[in-house]
Amino acid sequence: MMHEKELTAVKDKFLPLEELKNNQNEIISVLEKSKDEVISFEHAYLRNCIDKTKKCAEYFKWSYYPLSNKTERSNTFFCKNHHLCLICAQRRNVIKSNEWSNKINALLKVNKLLQVSHLILTIKNKKNIDEAYEVLIKYKGKITKIARSKKYEFNKILGYVGSIEFTKSENGWHGHIHMILLHTENLNSLKLHREWGKISDAAHYIELIDTKSSENQLTYIKNLCKYVSKPSQFSAQKNNIHELNLKIEFFIMCRKKHARLLFSGGLLRGLDKEPNYEKIDLATPRYEGIAIFKNKKYQYRQLAA
Ligand SMILES: [Zn+2]
Repeated sequence: MMHEKELTAVKDKFLPLEELKNNQNEIISVLEKSKDEVISFEHAYLRNCIDKTKKCAEYFKWSYYPLSNKTERSNTFFCKNHHLCLICAQRRNVIKSNEWSNKINALLKVNKLLQVSHLILTIKNKKNIDEAYEVLIKYKGKITKIARSKKYEFNKILGYVGSIEFTKSENGWHGHIHMILLHTENLNSLKLHREWGKISDAAHYIELIDTKSSENQLTYIKNLCKYVSKPSQFSAQKNNIHELNLKIEFFIMCRKKHARLLFSGGLLRGLDKEPNYEKIDLATPRYEGIAIFKNKKYQYRQLAA
């Protein structure tokens, strides 16, 4: 059997998940109490998603590896509604940002001329989120088109991975695009600005950050990947009705438009795919057990060896 200390190490590992699970349950209980106000009953789909999200990470299997003092989780039920679920949104962020930064670092090792930049493209505010999404998708398509021609600055981009993001203020829905760019020639931000202005007819703001100027490029890239693949702010952390309404609007838009908020191309093609599930090495000695979420805590039980 495991020592008490080892079991404590297992429990400690899952404290952040436990906290997230409690936050999520609070949000859901506010949503459910206010369902007449927030959730129209036409949205049977949303109703189903909420039920599924309630069960997210309710149960998992854990394995403790005494030789390396490591704990792993497996057989977890994840609802995969990352537009709605805090747990799935955070998990996706960790998986995607690791995948992105590993890929970028591998490319940098092979090609010393490669540079990494962060580009933010924004548009004018829109009255509703559907319009903000449609307009962004349209302009993003136009970038792909002009990037084929050598006369445009966008043509210098050799690889990109990015996300579409929204914020909401009293001025409306603010849609913007974050992109991590790979290129060997220097990018001229004034030229990019002009080109974005021409194709988007609503250009507002463009920002280009060259990561070379950063002291520790690898850490910078890792943080950048974490930032660009972060969950939408409407994976609301706050459980007030106003925030939840925005979350629901965001969620419904994603569903209605089959929105794909991540995209990638060129040298970084394929990095916008949804994450895969965990792999476990079955040969290493370990203790195993299960954890079930009950009364705001995970209850741990060790399985017989
Ligand atoms: Zn989930």
